[in-house]
Amino acid sequence: MESKLYIYAAIVLVLSPVVISAKWGYSGKMGPAGWADQFKKCAGKKQSPIDIRAEETMYNPDLKDFAIWYDPPMPNSNFTVKNNGHTLQVDLEGDFYVSNGGLRHLYKAAQFHFHWGGKAQHGSEHLMEGKASPLEMHLVTYNSDTYESIGLAAPQPDGLAVLGTMFEISKEDNPVYASIIKAIQYIRDPHKKLRIRLPEDSVSIRNILPLDISRYFRYQGSLTTPHCHESVTWTVFQQKQTISEAQLKQFRTLLQTGHHHHGAAEERVITVEQARQVIAAEPSRHRRAAGWRHAHLSQRQRDVMVELGIKGNHKEEQVYLEEADLALREQQMFAEMGMFADQPAADPSPVDKPEVKEHHKEAEEPKMDVAVERQVIIDNYRPVQPLHDRVVYRSFKLGETPVGTARSDQQRVSYTTLDEEDPVCAAPGAWASALLLLASLLVAVLLVL
Ligand SMILES: [Zn+2]
Repeated sequence: MESKLYIYAAIVLVLSPVVISAKWGYSGKMGPAGWADQFKKCAGKKQSPIDIRAEETMYNPDLKDFAIWYDPPMPNSNFTVKNNGHTLQVDLEGDFYVSNGGLRHLYKAAQFHFHWGGKAQHGSEHLMEGKASPLEMHLVTYNSDTYESIGLAAPQPDGLAVLGTMFEISKEDNPVYASIIKAIQYIRDPHKKLRIRLPEDSVSIRNILPLDISRYFRYQGSLTTPHCHESVTWTVFQQKQTISEAQLKQFRTLLQTGHHHHGAAEERVITVEQARQVIAAEPSRHRRAAGWRHAHLSQRQRDVMVELGIKGNHKEEQVYLEEADLALREQQMFAEMGMFADQPAADPSPVDKPEVKEHHKEAEEPKMDVAVERQVIIDNYRPVQPLHDRVVYRSFKLGETPVGTARSDQQRVSYTTLDEEDPVCAAPGAWASALLLLASLLVAVLLVL
């Protein structure tokens, strides 16, 4: 298995640079309450997200089943994971489409991303019966019948269709997201402009959605981030996906776009295997590094923590320590990879020398600034917006028992995860794929007609 994964070990330079914007955020002056000052559309009357109350929605028999294809992906398809400064985003390259499901066009899937919170009680953008979920995923697709690119489609009223999936906490990790979550450790800092290419058989565009995608809500809304274009045909599935606490915790370690960043690193794509080879090859060295960290940092940490006013507050000290630790590990890793020449390798010295202490101000302050401005992305959701005169539809009758929603092991197929040893089960099986293929063929035929 290990050797198979080496196939992915190649560094690829990417053509398009990621644009990191720090003009809006999720807290303080740049938070959602202030978006409309800069982005007029955010004050519109068809904004998202909303609170979905089933009793107040209307049954629409035209909201039939979706076709999600191709799954498994066509050859030369790619999934790459990045931190765009506001969320974790998985970009899709290749032929991924969403059709039917009451949509009037063929929609090409461009990316999916997540919204989460610091606590399990909130995190999702949409609410169900007034209640939030800890995590929500958005599969963003654009009307490829009418528009050549997602950029052209985004401002148009019929431009986008977003499929929203809510999550609930499960005891077990959800293997469907394993490869994505595993990549988080390599993309924490958005300024590194790193994208991780996932093994092609580790993600399924169908399996990331709930098992039952026949029961959903539909309304006309907007993008939930600036510029808040009112161009989204929204689908929010009734059935939830699952995520473990441990997996959710990983999302909360991603860092947001800092406000004082003046870098212009080129965006790069590497594989997980590449990144892993660098940091995981020598555990003994990493143990040494960990020991050094605590001895070495304690000297300058005292001053910085006093400056920050968190000295003595155990919880805040801990958060600070973790962030500083993360910053150093990343710096070391990327220096080792020779990827960011402007960032020197972390000092490997295990000794806290007195002369270092004397020159503390000049030598160490810039480093601390980097660590201090790094803040993890927590609560990257927009609060619910007024419904105004919109109607929310649903694809099912209230009180009707869901059919075929049982999560059965017999319906699962094997997908490769990043854990070398055992392939892990993921949702629907060969028969479901065959049905999807049949459905997509049908769509193709209909399109020709
Ligand atoms: Zn979103």
